[in-house]
Amino acid sequence: MRTRKFIVMAALIAAPMPAMAQEELLAQALTYSTTPFESIAYWLLVFLSSLVIGLAVGWRRERQLSNELRDSEARHQNLTDSQGDVVVRKGANGVVTTVNQAFCTTFGVTKDGVEGTLFHPPIDTSTARGLIGTFSGAETKSFRVRYEQRLKTASGWRWFLWDDYPIRNDAGELLEIQSAGRDITDQKQIEEDLRQARDMAERANRSKSAFLATMSHEIRTPMNGILGMANLLMDTEQSDEQETYTRAVKDSGDALLSLINDILDYSKIEAGQVRLEKLNFDVRRTVESVAELLSPRAHEKGIQIIAVPSQDLPLEVRGDEGRLRQVILNLAGNAVKFTQQGGIGIYVSVEKGLNPVTLRFEVVDTGVGVSDDATTHIFDEFSQADDRTSRKYGGTGLGLAISKRIVDAMGGEIGIESVVGEGSTFWFTVKLETVTAAVPLPLPPVGASEVMVVSDSSIVAPALGLQLEALNFRPLAFNSIAAAFADLERRPEARFHTVLYDIGLTATKPDVPVELLAEFEPLAEARRIVVITPEQRRNLDEYLESGFDGYLIKPVRQSSLQKILSPALDGADSAGLATAHVETEEKATQSMRILLAEDNEINSLLATSLLKKQGHKVDHVVNGREAVEAAIQVTYDIILMDVQMPEVDGHEATRQIRAIDGPGRDVPIVALTANAMSEDKHMCIEVGMNDFLPKPFVAQDLMDMLSRWTEPSGDTDDQGAAATG
Ligand code: ADP
Repeated sequence: MRTRKFIVMAALIAAPMPAMAQEELLAQALTYSTTPFESIAYWLLVFLSSLVIGLAVGWRRERQLSNELRDSEARHQNLTDSQGDVVVRKGANGVVTTVNQAFCTTFGVTKDGVEGTLFHPPIDTSTARGLIGTFSGAETKSFRVRYEQRLKTASGWRWFLWDDYPIRNDAGELLEIQSAGRDITDQKQIEEDLRQARDMAERANRSKSAFLATMSHEIRTPMNGILGMANLLMDTEQSDEQETYTRAVKDSGDALLSLINDILDYSKIEAGQVRLEKLNFDVRRTVESVAELLSPRAHEKGIQIIAVPSQDLPLEVRGDEGRLRQVILNLAGNAVKFTQQGGIGIYVSVEKGLNPVTLRFEVVDTGVGVSDDATTHIFDEFSQADDRTSRKYGGTGLGLAISKRIVDAMGGEIGIESVVGEGSTFWFTVKLETVTAAVPLPLPPVGASEVMVVSDSSIVAPALGLQLEALNFRPLAFNSIAAAFADLERRPEARFHTVLYDIGLTATKPDVPVELLAEFEPLAEARRIVVITPEQRRNLDEYLESGFDGYLIKPVRQSSLQKILSPALDGADSAGLATAHVETEEKATQSMRILLAEDNEINSLLATSLLKKQGHKVDHVVNGREAVEAAIQVTYDIILMDVQMPEVDGHEATRQIRAIDGPGRDVPIVALTANAMSEDKHMCIEVGMNDFLPKPFVAQDLMDMLSRWTEPSGDTDDQGAAATG
């Protein structure tokens, strides 16, 4: 029994052992104890053995935890070291508390050497914003701060991208700052190489633009001679064969010139040199003037062209009219080029907004159309819808790319909808400031407000219809007078305010005698207006005699239409208006005394021939100094001044002429120059010139310029003039 007791006690002392086993032993020991002393001794033994067991377990646990911590730190260290990032921790007082191995290797230091010190690697102060791990926002911000520094490492100067993180205790107090830095020297080098490459490209681009400007000037000067002489030659007596050759010279010259213009313009836009101007203008006039400009070309091809501004357009907007016009002209010019029958409508309306207002332009044609495939890349540089069209129609494929860039710059969009064989709609939007808002619609006319439109053109009839609706009239369109009669016979009670009769492009007479119109009851009170091309105006007397009361010139301007429909103009004398045109034409041919300052022999011969042919007297000088002397002695009607001339150039000569003490000072001066960029125009105006005629010019350009600056009224524009009876 006693032996057994000791075995149990020894076992208890020999613990640690599982708690279950201990309890069992204790229970057995208590069972065997016989005296109180033995019981106390057993209890003491149990207590001591539990203490030993507890201490042993605690010690084992602590060893295990410290092993785990060491493993974790080693893993963390491995992780930061293996990433190659240099890591340093500093206390708030700037003393380094710990660094990783990568830090030591990078900066050639030892952990012991830097921990507990104020170590900081040498820093390139021209690049640094403060030292590592001292970010100013650390006290208040919990997120990281990122910055770059150039530091001296064991292998030389290197760039580092640092991320600083604040380390806080549970109470949010800042304890340390951990800075992790990444070597970004290679990346920096790539950035620097790219920057240098970009600078070089920009410099190259600038010299390319300068080169192109010079080239274009140099090419334009002889082009002026070629085109001008070809024009003069075409006015002389020539055999058919000679005429064919001369026309070929002129056509090739024209094509070359438009190519030069496109390339010059595109390179300017590409070089980011397009500065948008801000001028007030009337967008109605812009679209109408484009239609007017293109109408001779369209009419020559037997197709119609018309501009249709909507009634809700602001009266005046602010923006770059020149560039806007360029886009419309480009799209409408293409439309004329790619349309063989039917015509072109240029529509403009308000898409949204009042100020700024977004305007939508649509150029609709009934031409060859563009395939779906081609529409995806048609606005890219040098892109043409297909090779066959480019061979047939020529062109550079730059026009639409230029248009797209301009529209982008104006904050708009451009696009196309097209069906091959039926036609295309090129549209674009631009955002402009409104200067003067739209006016309310005009009051509807008293009495009959129906206007009969007779036109077989699928472009003119709907366009006139829209314009009439905008003026609060109700249009009713027929494609012939016969069709109108057939319809109205069934409704003899109908009454018309006006009949607009589109005589077509080739017809010289209406399809039904005009007198018949008046005998027809619904038209008895209606005014009969014939719509003609400028070329058909020579038959005007005939039309008026045959029973028309007035006429409208194509492309019909909205203001002309409004005038002719307005009762206020009733009784105006059509003969009076016709006389005004004749007077204007005669005035333009009045002899003038003109000073031509031009050093290029061929160009001066060309300009002198053109001017003398018109009956003007021309004095020719070859430099600016002579121009000033001549202007002092003679009061000219106008001076045509080349810009680049020897001795004294055109700008300086103009300044000196404007400073003359006498009447010669006020003479209109027009620059004749091959520098076709808009900056050159600004320069000419700035030095005191009145206008600018880029070379090469054709006879008509020169005549237009003369009449603009020598007509007393300054207005020779008779397109769309309305005569009413
Ligand atoms: P270009 O007319 O000088 O070749 P653009 O950039 O103005 O250059 O036009 C690119 C191409 O788009 C044209 O060659 C033509 O194939 C097509 N295109 C442009 N406008 C029209 C149009 N109104 N109808 C049919 N095709 C067109």
